[in-house]
Amino acid sequence: MQRISHWVNNKVVAGTSGNVGKVYNPATGEVQAEVDLASVAEVDAVVANAKEAFVTWRASNLSRRAEIMFRMRELIDANRKELANVVSLEHGKVPSDAMGEIARGLENIEFACGIPAMLKGGYSEQASGGVDVYSIRQPLGVVAGITPFNFPAMVPMWMFANAIMCGNTFILKPSEKDPSAAMFVADLLRQAGLPDGVFSVLHGDKVSVDRLLEHKDVQSISFVGSTPIAKYVYETGTKNGKRVQALGGAKNHMLVLPDADLDMAADAAISAAYGSAGERCMAISVVLAVDSIADALVGKLSSRIPNIKVGPGTDPVAEMGPLISREHRDKVASFVTNANAEGAKVVIDGTDKAKDAGFFLNPSLIDNVKPGMKCYDEEIFGPVLTVMRVKSYQEGLDTINANQFGNGTAIFTRDGGVARQFQFDVQVGMVGINVPIPVPVSYYSFGGWKASLFGDQHMYGPEGINFFTRGKVVTSRWPDPRTSSVNLGFPQNR
Ligand code: NAD
Repeated sequence: MQRISHWVNNKVVAGTSGNVGKVYNPATGEVQAEVDLASVAEVDAVVANAKEAFVTWRASNLSRRAEIMFRMRELIDANRKELANVVSLEHGKVPSDAMGEIARGLENIEFACGIPAMLKGGYSEQASGGVDVYSIRQPLGVVAGITPFNFPAMVPMWMFANAIMCGNTFILKPSEKDPSAAMFVADLLRQAGLPDGVFSVLHGDKVSVDRLLEHKDVQSISFVGSTPIAKYVYETGTKNGKRVQALGGAKNHMLVLPDADLDMAADAAISAAYGSAGERCMAISVVLAVDSIADALVGKLSSRIPNIKVGPGTDPVAEMGPLISREHRDKVASFVTNANAEGAKVVIDGTDKAKDAGFFLNPSLIDNVKPGMKCYDEEIFGPVLTVMRVKSYQEGLDTINANQFGNGTAIFTRDGGVARQFQFDVQVGMVGINVPIPVPVSYYSFGGWKASLFGDQHMYGPEGINFFTRGKVVTSRWPDPRTSSVNLGFPQNR
């Protein structure tokens, strides 16, 4: 059985805790590897190592750091297919979809290559007589990232690229369900010339997360995962004095107005709902259809669903793979199985596929959902699209704003004025106008509102640079005997 171990000082380090997790092949349902789960003592050793490496790394010059990231960019580009296959084998998403996540992750690497320009401070000459004032941004120290199963390559890149370019040393605790992508990326960083101890991978479960949250030498926590754990990580981390950004779950609505191009809206909803088997935090989960076009739209959605090719990543024609685990597949199926009893209408039931080997479901479509039903109130995170019928634009907007989550949303319309008003009023962090999955490009920042994010800094982009640095302001005067005097008053500039 393959054993996946930790990554410290640019090499694989065998675990010593004796605890292991099982890594499945979701397309067959079989265990394909075991992953070491770190003990408290192992976490402490990795943090101590990262703390020591920080002393030299923070003093490295910016051009040298950027040079390493430029090399990393080339290495990821050259290894896209191999990395996509690693992702597909453990996550289950088809390789073409995994290539998409690598392309979006690569954007974050490219952004971080510009670090010398981003760490420029401000400078005010002659703020007072002979006095200059300037601001600089400095790294935090040892920082940690805790990532979910659904983007095992991209989400770590959201975090580590900016973190290490800012001069921090970074410890990644990837999802124990698909830990190999982190190891692949770690080896590319080694090849790019990253010094020992700057990037470590610590595999683990709650034991290692809790230790990172309480460790006095860990300065910040970046987390992406489900809402209950995000809230827990935020509360525990901040209680222990850490800076925390914790991104949680989602329930993304797509509002389709009567003037929209319905074929374009249907194509977009299908792609955004069933891509990656719905296991995306930006997946469209609810279509809000204004009454007059609801029947037509549901017709267009249901006519497209039978064309989706479900199969393992090894099948070149497959477009949608299995779910991550047996338990998750069964939970997703239960939303569909219970929907009719809750008063909704199951238009297409994809749960029969659960009988296959592997953790597969076919796409499902549920119409007439309403708040109060489980399939509406909870995050499904699977290939289930729901439709809620609303009387007007206003009812659609109010529905989105009343939802506990606020990650992504989209409006489909030809009316620019209405779209602009929607962007103004909607209480969601990432908004698409005729764009179903509005994941911001890497030079903006990613983050939701409400129960989709705990903390005040979004992930990557300019807010990522802020998150991984702290400001310092220097007020300086060089000796000039002519201005020397004793003055107990508060310093003034005029
Ligand atoms: P998860 O919350 O189960 O796990 C995320 C991480 O937390 C993993 O590394 C896991 O080991 C750790 N963890 C799990 N339980 C823990 C506990 N009790 N204590 C401490 N640590 C724990 O999430 P997941 O199932 O891996 O990922 C899917 C979820 O992530 C979905 O809810 C999805 O919406 C969300 N997600 C959000 C975003 C976003 O940007 N907002 C992006 C991707 C995924």
